[in-house]
Amino acid sequence: MMRDIRCADLYAANQPRSRSMRHLRQLGNHFSISIPNDEKGYLGRECPECERYFKVTPGTGLTGDDLSCHCPYCGHCSKPDQFFTKAQIEYAESVVMNQVMGAVIKDLRSLEFNHRPTGAFGLGISMKVKGTPEPIRRYSEQELEEEVACEKCTLRYTVYGTFAYCPDCGQHNSLQILEKNLALARKLLDLATTVEGDLSFQLVADALENGVSTFDGFGREACRIYSSKSSDPMKATGISFQNLAGAQKNVLALFGVDLMAALNAADWTFACRCFQKRHLLSHKMGIVDDAYINATGDSTTAVGRKVPVSSQEVDALLTGVRTLGTYLTTELSKTP
Ligand SMILES: [Zn+2]
Ligand SMILES: [Zn+2]
Repeated sequence: MMRDIRCADLYAANQPRSRSMRHLRQLGNHFSISIPNDEKGYLGRECPECERYFKVTPGTGLTGDDLSCHCPYCGHCSKPDQFFTKAQIEYAESVVMNQVMGAVIKDLRSLEFNHRPTGAFGLGISMKVKGTPEPIRRYSEQELEEEVACEKCTLRYTVYGTFAYCPDCGQHNSLQILEKNLALARKLLDLATTVEGDLSFQLVADALENGVSTFDGFGREACRIYSSKSSDPMKATGISFQNLAGAQKNVLALFGVDLMAALNAADWTFACRCFQKRHLLSHKMGIVDDAYINATGDSTTAVGRKVPVSSQEVDALLTGVRTLGTYLTTELSKTP
């Protein structure tokens, strides 16, 4: 990535073309500074709107001369040369200053003189130029939290947090992240088959909790992205998706989208019960209470018992969560 700097004001372009300014003139009045990528090939970027930092791997996404850059956080879109970071700009300016100062010092040295005194009352005069060019500022790119390869345009980029718009094609990665986390939860189920007893149960329970929490994060992000389409944007950004029945009521009231329509009646009831089981596992040591029985009508267990959770049931839930997630974003994007 090149940073172009015009420095007519730094450079005495209109000065008389004497030999004494040869080095400065040779620099010209246009500098192209190469901004280095980090060791993994990423180039830092900073949104001119929200000023948040991210990185991209140049050349892995869309190609062409007329591309725009999208901020992964706020979605702001403008020309790629608007996304240089402050550190990169300081670095480029320091390179220019280093070259200009170096040339000025060389030119001034060509004017050095040393007149020795002559005669009994002669006065000696000399000029010696001292000094070194401005040092070049060093900088390094920051380490970020989530590495993403956009599934639409293949751009590799990294961001703080998890959810983001692709800087090249602008596609939001929320479904991609949901699927990645559901795949991780399935790996826990696979792992559970390799061990026995309490550890196996714990892994299955973890997979259930992860499935629900990933849907909660996904649902919150979807509501944030589309909050302007809701009847109450403030409330929309605060919807919790840990309780499926509660989320369904809120999304219906605020967006007019009915999550229940994503699944058939039996699968919906099943998913709601699994979400209730997650609540017991997270907050009640996995022991069935009255609230669970009232919410689910589950007749396979009773108050005071350990809530039953099977690998098959969690596997089916993860499939249901993916269906719910796809339905939610599809319907919210259609909402006027
Ligand atoms: Zn931004
Ligand atoms: Zn993309």
